[in-house]
Amino acid sequence: MISIALIGSTGSIGKQVCNVVRRNAELFRFSALVAGSNFELLFQQISEFRPPRATLVDRSRLSGMPPVFEGTKLSFGEEQALNCIEDCDVTFVAATGFAGLKYSLKAIECGKKLALANKETLVCGGELVMQKIAQKGVDLLPVDSEHSAIWQALHFNRSAEFSKLLLTASGGPFYGYTKEQLKNVTAADALRHPTWSMGAKITVDSATLLNKGFEVIEAKWLYNAPYEKIEAVVHPESIIHSMVSFSDGSVLAQMSYPSMEIPIQIALTHPNRLPCDVAPLNFTALSALHFKPLTREMFPCYDLALTVGEWGDNYPCALNGAGEVAVNAFLNGQISFLAIAEVIERTLNHTKRERVESYESLCATDSRAREEARKIIKNVQ
Ligand code: NDP
Repeated sequence: MISIALIGSTGSIGKQVCNVVRRNAELFRFSALVAGSNFELLFQQISEFRPPRATLVDRSRLSGMPPVFEGTKLSFGEEQALNCIEDCDVTFVAATGFAGLKYSLKAIECGKKLALANKETLVCGGELVMQKIAQKGVDLLPVDSEHSAIWQALHFNRSAEFSKLLLTASGGPFYGYTKEQLKNVTAADALRHPTWSMGAKITVDSATLLNKGFEVIEAKWLYNAPYEKIEAVVHPESIIHSMVSFSDGSVLAQMSYPSMEIPIQIALTHPNRLPCDVAPLNFTALSALHFKPLTREMFPCYDLALTVGEWGDNYPCALNGAGEVAVNAFLNGQISFLAIAEVIERTLNHTKRERVESYESLCATDSRAREEARKIIKNVQ
């Protein structure tokens, strides 16, 4: 039986990992569940899965004494959450944001298999993380649907040869909008994703296409791909989750109705496939699949992500820190949709290039970028 330490159990991905484990209880068990602040759901999950350990990182919403769970040691705070990783076969990092990076690094340090949903791990720390993975010989299992699709097309071999990686993008709710139309879009509009149901941050990043830029950077690190071998194309139906083209002109695509349970499950069971709770594709009902261009001019956040990907060093980490602050401000009604890109760009203009030597140097870049972004937000609309 494979034991999983699930970091971010109460989020959109975390809940779907629980579905996969629930469906395959004879194969998987949780050695630990870790949540941010949603203690109600964490306690439900503890009652159901009875993991030996569980940690609530932020207990500020919990008043009074926590309940006692038979067979589960409940603890609090980030240090305890990191300790949970020491005793598992696979660490599943489904926490959101820069916070996910330290869990990934801990899993690598402990030599655990790393199932990686958290994008920020590779966006912010790609070079450092991949070096440590190589040193420790750790298995890195891609979970993001696009990178899982590529991994499947490469027969689960991240070092396999290819001509091009073709990332698909739904285009988000605002593909084709003019700048004028984008001026007045609200957080509620941005949170209405046409094909995927996800956490708030990644949903807004899908609307600005920052998310697709993140995925290009992730693909570079995961598949050792130079940027000229990575292309993104808009595919509004989200049936093809990504494709790989090869030297003979063949293209392999992975397809299904949109569901994160397939990539989550295959990360844990590969190279074997098990039944999943997703309807088989009905091609005649689908009738047509469409493909449209995605250019850097269309979405400024996508352009900024590609630019910092090319710049390297600490710039992607600064972009991410500014992006987390800007998206938060947009969701709270402090800034407009278009100002997200402005905040990121102005933060980058104030960022000094530095080599990424350690996790601590990334933390320093992240906090400087957040501080700068907060200052900028006071002066934009
Ligand atoms: P959610 O916002 O839905 O969930 C985030 C999870 O992280 C919650 O369980 C939250 O806990 C937890 N969390 C927050 N802070 C901490 C912390 N300091 N330590 C441990 N856990 C913490 O996000 P998603 O599930 O949508 O996304 C998670 C990651 O996966 C992101 O990086 C995203 O980009 C990536 N991803 C998501 C996809 C999706 O379909 N949702 C697809 C591909 C990638 P709580 O809620 O209790 O506060």
